[in-house]
Amino acid sequence: MFKNFKLVPNIIFGRGCFAQLDEIIEKQREDIDSWVVFVTDDVFKGRALEKRIPLHDNDLLLWVNVDDEPKTGYVDELTLKVKAYRSTLPCAIIGIGGGSSMDLAKAVSLMLTNEGSSTLYQGWDLIQNPAVCHMAVPTLSGTGAEVSRTAVLTGPEKKLGLNSDYTVFDQVILDPELIKDVPKDQQFYTGMDCYIHCIESLEGTYLNEFSKAYGEKALDLCRQVFLNDHPDRDDKLMMASFFGGMSIAYSQVGACHALSYGLSYVLGTHHGIGCCITFDYLDEFYPEGVKEFRTMREKCNIELPRDLVKNLEPDQVETMITVALGLDPLWENCLGPDWKNIMTRDKAKSLFLKM
Ligand code: NAD
Ligand code: ZN
Repeated sequence: MFKNFKLVPNIIFGRGCFAQLDEIIEKQREDIDSWVVFVTDDVFKGRALEKRIPLHDNDLLLWVNVDDEPKTGYVDELTLKVKAYRSTLPCAIIGIGGGSSMDLAKAVSLMLTNEGSSTLYQGWDLIQNPAVCHMAVPTLSGTGAEVSRTAVLTGPEKKLGLNSDYTVFDQVILDPELIKDVPKDQQFYTGMDCYIHCIESLEGTYLNEFSKAYGEKALDLCRQVFLNDHPDRDDKLMMASFFGGMSIAYSQVGACHALSYGLSYVLGTHHGIGCCITFDYLDEFYPEGVKEFRTMREKCNIELPRDLVKNLEPDQVETMITVALGLDPLWENCLGPDWKNIMTRDKAKSLFLKM
């Protein structure tokens, strides 16, 4: 079976295009009672961007905190806040921030029209009703959350996304000016998430010309950003994230993402840095990619945390292994159908103990 891949229908790209947000949203405001929710990363409180948000009288500016990556409980709480604000549904939800804020905006827009807790919808195609119109304004690039059909959430039982065609944004606003003030280390971690998406997609057994076309271009852009320090690096990184997302949407990620999910499940490690920590020990799976990653890391002067696992309790390490090995498609993409004979629990353990 081939995937019938849902795309973002409208995309605007360019330095300063954020200024057109009001005009873009206007099309959704059908009458004078129409209102909009801006799901905004609280890192922008008091910053210049806050004053540029095109807030109308009825609108809600909903600050979100992403010190912890999005949890189902937090999504449910935010959804209740939106429902309590007015008796009608908003006409649009605008997510402003990195992967976490974009995922929160996706999740809230879905939960406004689907009954019950977001934990009920963690999985594939469990969402019943279309979401409220939702738009993304990325302020940090690399995850590809702006194009993907998932909103990654950690619930009481699992870390699993709300995967559905309804999850895909209706509009994406790509303004490279918005990512220029991201702290250097954060830009590296999230940028490397994109680089690793490319390597895992291009080196995977699921590769096809669709994924290759996007993955090769995204990889080329990552190199211009992280090796050549190109003057248009923000524009390039923003497009790399988009293309990297397109590449994995039609293939899959691999060993690094699988192991990093185990790491973040037990330690709460954030996605970007978790991928960086993990990738550094995967020479045997991605020799060229890991070598180039190290060159980029040195060039950007980034130190990664070490020795995170060896002092953990044995049952914590076992949980990490179980979470990582539960991601069958990722391993199959990386190692082929025979992966279970290669990536045994012992093998996974030996990799974790190095981290
Ligand atoms: P993030 O959104 O978690 O943000 C990281 C930090 O950067 C935060 O402190 C945030 O406040 C700050 N930040 C964001 N924009 C900034 C700016 N312009 N200036 C200064 N600081 C800024 O980071 P991320 O790496 O973009 O996203 C990671 C999240 O994305 C994880 O929750 C992960 O699960 C999710 N993810 C989702 C998908 C998907 O397809 N939906 C794919 C990969 C990752
Ligand atoms: Zn990723």
